[in-house]
Amino acid sequence: MKPLNPPAIVILGQGSMAVARQIQTALPEAVIYGLASRTQGADVVYENFGDRLRELFRGGTPIVGICAAGILIRTLAPLLVNKWQEPPVLAIAEDGSAVVPLLGGLQGVNDLARRIAAGLQVSAAITTTGELRFQTTLLSPPRGYRLINPDDAKGFIADLLAGAKVQLIGNAPWLRESRLPLVQEGDEVPPLTIQIVAETAAQPTPGPDCLVYVGEEGTGDREQGTGNGKLAIVGTGPGAAAWLSPEVKEILQSATDWVGYQTYLDLAEPWRQPQTVRHQSDNRVELDRARTALDLAAMGRTVAVVSSGDPGIYAMAAAVFELLEREAKPGWSPIEIQVCPGISAMQAAAAQVGAPLGHDFAVISLSDILKPWEAIASRIAAAGQADLAIAFYNPVSQQRTWQLEKAKEILLQWRSPQTPIVLARNLGRPGQRVTVKELGELAIADADMRTVILIGSSKTRTLQQREGVQWVYTPRHY
Ligand code: SAH
Repeated sequence: MKPLNPPAIVILGQGSMAVARQIQTALPEAVIYGLASRTQGADVVYENFGDRLRELFRGGTPIVGICAAGILIRTLAPLLVNKWQEPPVLAIAEDGSAVVPLLGGLQGVNDLARRIAAGLQVSAAITTTGELRFQTTLLSPPRGYRLINPDDAKGFIADLLAGAKVQLIGNAPWLRESRLPLVQEGDEVPPLTIQIVAETAAQPTPGPDCLVYVGEEGTGDREQGTGNGKLAIVGTGPGAAAWLSPEVKEILQSATDWVGYQTYLDLAEPWRQPQTVRHQSDNRVELDRARTALDLAAMGRTVAVVSSGDPGIYAMAAAVFELLEREAKPGWSPIEIQVCPGISAMQAAAAQVGAPLGHDFAVISLSDILKPWEAIASRIAAAGQADLAIAFYNPVSQQRTWQLEKAKEILLQWRSPQTPIVLARNLGRPGQRVTVKELGELAIADADMRTVILIGSSKTRTLQQREGVQWVYTPRHY
């Protein structure tokens, strides 16, 4: 596929500029097009919306319209003739609350939608998962495999989408585990075939009904599980690229598979190679994810389990070891496991305001999903009594709101209402907000599940440095 032009973010009025800029943060290569009479500060101005939109579309430029989907559909409808060539087109709600991919499924519109949605902190309204899945699987085989007739893939995928089934000949675990509709025993003879051949073998006849992949010598054996699999559990930091370690970047780029919670995979998306397979989940069952990752590695894949922040802090690393011990499948023992640290939310938060964790501190998760509230309450009291600074993770969620209020109540038994606290939301991501307050002012509305809260000890101080710059720190000398 030829590379696409940089996306055009098209706006009709100044009210859309803020959202346009937010999208541009997520897609730094994108260009903002603003209507001449109604916008200021756009990268490019245009006079006539319809003409400009059709011109961009004909030129193969991905279009991100901050306007109603209907406007885009009506404007471009006369040009819709060939879905293999149309560029991605997306409609974005003016307040950034919805990201709707409309056209360009074969040119990666869903990937683009996910990147934009991650930047806007919403979910993309993906409606074509089947199409996307087949395309990624077939056009981007994992390392060691090469499709020799990519031109036939388009017709092949169209037949798949129309309901055809596939007979797989040869060794291709990545296809066996994909959601390709493979023929079952008893099915009629299928019209479509995928063949995996060794470089040296006699080649079958490729065509629109038969995709042929050349597998490197030995690829098959390795995938069968002779135990060269690797599993790296990585932390991507809170979100910003500058806070992701070179080691983690390297691992993300060289993995054949990523496993993780959808939001975290979306954050890491800029580092994904096209052939890397995403195994995303939207459930929060960490042990299921850990099992998927270990099973993939046992087949010889190079797997990255992706957590945000540090993978060892309320994240996937412990889940992998827990499962490894509990289920102890024989296929898992040869896997090479590595844990790669990341910057945790509390470190990023502390750095924004100075050094509130500069002396002894405790870290407590307020989530009582995995442990009883009594344990949490007694830890908060103990940390309060011991005069430790405290970092609270998972302070509130939609279902859990009272814990934070309770935590405040317990702390106020030991600590003054004037104790400095730090509320840090969306660190390293669009919409980052860091606020310094006093413990007595802490309210549930200050926090959500993307907030980490730091509570000072009795020694924690605020410091006015220069005009408008206030620091928070905990001295190391008492
Ligand atoms: N492994 C992660 C923590 C996962 S638990 C880490 O080391 O940072 C999830 C909690 O972490 C959230 O409820 C929130 O309290 C905190 N958190 C994670 N990322 C954050 C971010 N970018 N900004 C603020 N808090 C964040």
